[in-house]
Amino acid sequence: KNSKPNLVNAPNGYAGEGFFATKLNEVVGLARANSMWPLPFATSCCGIEYMATMAATYDIGRFGAERMSFSPRQADMLLVMGTISKKMAPILRQVYEQMAEPRWVIAVGACASSGGVFDTYSVLQGIDKVIPVDVYVPGCPPRPEQILDGILTLQEIVKSESVRRRSSDEYKELLNSYNIK
Ligand code: SF4
Repeated sequence: KNSKPNLVNAPNGYAGEGFFATKLNEVVGLARANSMWPLPFATSCCGIEYMATMAATYDIGRFGAERMSFSPRQADMLLVMGTISKKMAPILRQVYEQMAEPRWVIAVGACASSGGVFDTYSVLQGIDKVIPVDVYVPGCPPRPEQILDGILTLQEIVKSESVRRRSSDEYKELLNSYNIK
């Protein structure tokens, strides 16, 4: 009698993605989610709330995201906070492109998410016109608790993603779908 388990039909592994890849995704997802390196792209008032989020009372370090990076090469979480003018859009796109995969984006506040109250000819009506956004944080400005909630939401997304977040072809296709003119 064959006593070996039937691995091909195992409910949570071996078939499909595979047991090893599934567990590797979980471990890497946990590590990535709990050690995000933020790049604060702050242009106006929402950036001040972010400063409060970093300080002792709210202590972003509790979530492993206290290591600020002002170099896109060493950051994996882009936080866009404030009004983004259309002239600034190509710069934002360039900063995003300089970040290595895996990278994630949070639009903090109404201006970054949708242009906010500045529905004018010169203001970008949401950063998702030029780069992909993973989490939107509402508010004008959002309180530090909301910014932390956005980061926790992103952590849940990161934990559930594959180690290979996107293939380069998928990435090129995605970026080509955005228009920065
Ligand atoms: Fe300022 Fe409100 Fe815009 Fe934030 S959403 S940058 S607080 S105007």
